Amino acid sequence: MADHKGVFIYGEISEGKLAPVTLELLGIGRRLADARGEECAAVLIDRKADDCAREAIACGADRVYVVQDAPTEFFEGASFTAILERLCTETAAPAILLLGQTITGRDLAPRLAFRLKAGLVMDCVGLAIDPETRNLIAKKPVSGGNALATYALKDGGPQLATIRRRAMEPFKGDERRQGEIVNVPAGVDASEVKAKRIERVLEESEGPSIENAEIVVGGGRGIDSTEEFEEYITKGLARTLGAGVGGTRGAVDAGLISEQSQVGLTGKIIGPNLYFAVALSGAIQHMAGCSGARNIVAINLDENAQIFKFARFGIVGDYRQVIPPLIERLTELLST
Ligand SMILES: Cc1cc2nc3c(=O)[nH]c(=O)nc-3n(C[C@H](O)[C@H](O)[C@H](O)COP(=O)(O)OP(=O)(O)OC[C@H]3O[C@@H](n4cnc5c(N)ncnc54)[C@H](O)[C@@H]3O)c2cc1C
Repeated sequence: MADHKGVFIYGEISEGKLAPVTLELLGIGRRLADARGEECAAVLIDRKADDCAREAIACGADRVYVVQDAPTEFFEGASFTAILERLCTETAAPAILLLGQTITGRDLAPRLAFRLKAGLVMDCVGLAIDPETRNLIAKKPVSGGNALATYALKDGGPQLATIRRRAMEPFKGDERRQGEIVNVPAGVDASEVKAKRIERVLEESEGPSIENAEIVVGGGRGIDSTEEFEEYITKGLARTLGAGVGGTRGAVDAGLISEQSQVGLTGKIIGPNLYFAVALSGAIQHMAGCSGARNIVAINLDENAQIFKFARFGIVGDYRQVIPPLIERLTELLST
């Protein structure tokens, strides 16, 4: 199929609903498709994708490809890549394919770019169509977030991008929108599966997941012990605010938080409205994961700590002295 047309988004499902990043993908996918005067289609690979397919149409898709017979019930990189490759070559030939900059998207996008011999820009915070070439223009932060680079993709095949959480506006949902749901067979068998899931462990965590939370409290190596992390962060500030709990690699190395809670270049990317950065220095690798936060409040003993350069509000002091009165005042404000 030589004539590449339309925008494809790879939709992720979380707890039976479209994941927030998918709503954002549909929002930008819709706008890019309109700019090209073409269709926006979503691909959902899930055994229970029916309800989500209708949601995807309400949120901007013209067509939803539903694959319900993937060889594994849960995400597996190699076989999901094979399914998407087939969809992008045999079922349709999209001009643009968008994924979330999530654990799943980060796994799939490079594999697909290689298989499809396509250009890929990861972790984009802005996407547009070049009015002259109709190709994708992608913006992404580079040099640890200190500069914004613009990439112009070439045509001749699908153009791939992953998008950073909360960088794009979701499409305003409309239940009356009409679209087509197309069931397609996975077309791959168990031999495509290269990794076996041995065990699935649901991590117990207080509060919302950091990737979707409106407020996140992040702690760093400056926090003295796991007991103090629990007292001041998890059961302190975060519980008061109903916030997600994350932290730095320094905090992971010090055994204060699990690896799953690490924010940054090699951790999760978050974009809350409010990020409390407690006893962390603001290393560029950490900031790469939270520069999308709309407001950063830093609490640090060292007035020269780099985190203050990124913070909207800064408090110089020991977290043990700063957090208790802050919780007291917040509790008062939240109860009125
Ligand atoms: C390839 C690579 C990838 C990396 N990926 C990541 C990543 O994804 N995420 C990440 O976070 N890091 C990452 N890092 C590590 C990163 O460079 C930093 O080392 C790390 O972020 C530092 O963690 P920290 O801020 O908790 O610790 P530190 O830099 O040690 O900072 C601790 C801070 O606590 C303050 N403090 C101490 N006591 C108190 C107190 N009582 N009250 C208030 N403040 C106090 C100190 O003033 C200091 O600013 C990566 C590094 C490399 C090389």
